Amino acid sequence: MLIKIRPPYLANMIAAGEVVERPASVVKELAENSIDAGATAVTVEIESGGVSLIRVSDNGCGIPREDTSIAFLRHATSKIDSPDDLEHIMTLGFRGEALASICAVAKLEMVTKTDGEECGVKIVAEAGDITEQGDIGCPQVTSIAVRNLFFNTPARIKFLKRDATEAGYIEEYVRRLAMAHPEVSFRMTNGGKEKLFTAGDNSLKNAAYSIYGVDVAKELIEVKHSDGGITVTGLIGRPTLYRKNRSFQRFFINGRYIVNRTATAALEEGYKSQLLGGSFPVAILHIGVAPEFVDVNVHPAKLEVKFSDDTKVFQAVYWAVKNALSSSFSLPEVELKNAEIKPQINVSHIPQGYAGQHLKARLTGGEELQIPMPPKGMQEDFLNSVFLENQKTEPETSENKAAEYTKIVYQQEKPPQQQDFDGGEQIKIIGQLFGTYILVEKAGTLYILDQHAAHERLIYERLLTAKENHTLSPQLMLTPIVVGLSPIEAEAVKANTGFFEELGFELEDYGNNDIAVRQVPYATSQDAIKDMVVEIAGMLSKGHSGGGRRAERALYTIACKAAIKANRLLNEAEIKSLLNDVSGLYGINTCPHGRPFTVKLSKQEIEKLFKRTN
Ligand code: ADP
Ligand code: MG
Repeated sequence: MLIKIRPPYLANMIAAGEVVERPASVVKELAENSIDAGATAVTVEIESGGVSLIRVSDNGCGIPREDTSIAFLRHATSKIDSPDDLEHIMTLGFRGEALASICAVAKLEMVTKTDGEECGVKIVAEAGDITEQGDIGCPQVTSIAVRNLFFNTPARIKFLKRDATEAGYIEEYVRRLAMAHPEVSFRMTNGGKEKLFTAGDNSLKNAAYSIYGVDVAKELIEVKHSDGGITVTGLIGRPTLYRKNRSFQRFFINGRYIVNRTATAALEEGYKSQLLGGSFPVAILHIGVAPEFVDVNVHPAKLEVKFSDDTKVFQAVYWAVKNALSSSFSLPEVELKNAEIKPQINVSHIPQGYAGQHLKARLTGGEELQIPMPPKGMQEDFLNSVFLENQKTEPETSENKAAEYTKIVYQQEKPPQQQDFDGGEQIKIIGQLFGTYILVEKAGTLYILDQHAAHERLIYERLLTAKENHTLSPQLMLTPIVVGLSPIEAEAVKANTGFFEELGFELEDYGNNDIAVRQVPYATSQDAIKDMVVEIAGMLSKGHSGGGRRAERALYTIACKAAIKANRLLNEAEIKSLLNDVSGLYGINTCPHGRPFTVKLSKQEIEKLFKRTN
């Protein structure tokens, strides 16, 4: 056989097999070109699942007249010149393959006009050949219509799914683009019917609203985090908003949709104590990194990216999620009163850590305020933005100033519906059910509280806050408790005495794999203390090295063992004190393992059960 150089037409058809897999790939390439061209509005119109027509129009810079015909040639790109450019790609396209590939397997009609030109250019091409070229009067638009996709590659057509399915792929793709680029307004129609419209007002929340609807959008909280050169921004769902699969999780890196295991794992780890297994958080997260940090030069149809440092990405995403969740938790629902002053804030002291802490802020006039802690790394920005936004808000009297300012800060994020058992409103304790659940009536609602789960969360939060504030107050034992361990566990304890000390334990080697416990982080029964030490030792012996999360896991264990067990009768004073404490858990309704601890039944729901109402 003779070796021949492939004629360009054939080369393009072969490349088309890679780039143009299905109609959605055409939409992807065309719409990405629109974004690369700086468009602020992109319209995608399709007919019959995109096979008979895909038209993408944009208001971007357009293609200069002299470049119009070469844009269809393979390796024609205006985006890179040199290998060095490849390291710094900020555009979505760079291969110069898309237009040529699409053109090879369809009938293509392009109209384009740049700003400086009097009239636009129209080009018609089919199976890689330009069949018509001329002037056309038009506004500054670039519109590319692709008709009869795969008309000359019947094998491809066979692989396509039903029109509705192909249209679904396209819509998913446009959604991704809309989430990646809230600054661009996207419109998509299928058979003339509008499927999606985003405002392009640069608000991701508004884009999410257009895409998912109000029920999802109102449960989204903002993420804003930056660490070690990586920024993580976007929206995540409150733990009450979850899905049974990952279809509502989307990650973008430098504006490009990606699939990445590290980012997914970090997101889910951030929710670890909030969601049950089998439930997945909702997220739209934008990761921003220096271009050289990530390798995008993979196959164009592939979505996986490689990071040069996975751990850094994991940490950034994990803490972004964790901080956003914890800041939204400590925020009770309050009403703001309108009045006017111009507070100038000056953050005088920013302690480390965040959960449940307070931040001291000084106002003009020298007054100092205690304000609940905004997420790590954002205190100053957060406060300034909040105070500026609320310049019109004045507390009525000076005594309640601190409280009012606290409310201002709180007002940023409204928490989910929460239990509230404080004495302020009338509550009626009905009693304990099965020795395990506490029943409370309040304002026409029956609250059912899992005493163990609620107490567990309470202890966990207290320990976590105390640990981060370095205000742990360990309890000294009158007589030490001796705990027998396996040799491996005992070894793990001895190798980690510092870790135990940080948690508030004081342990002593008693020989023979026995460990004496002299001090504990939380006063509880002897059995519970033994269980804690055994379990933490077990965790350590299995070589858990999750860094900060290792301490968190140990705190779960302590909380779990120290918490009131199920099947324990409580007296009224105990119930009251538990309810009172739980009412301070603003916005949290799960135990550290993610099970809910309060279930609510409204009078109406109960009446429904009895078929009194519909
Ligand atoms: P790539 O995007 O990889 O550069 P394409 O084949 O997708 O390659 O496009 C080739 C070239 O055509 C681009 O580099 C760009 O200069 C031009 N182009 C394509 N679509 C548009 C558009 N909508 N607006 C302006 N220029 C475009
Ligand atoms: Mg392109």
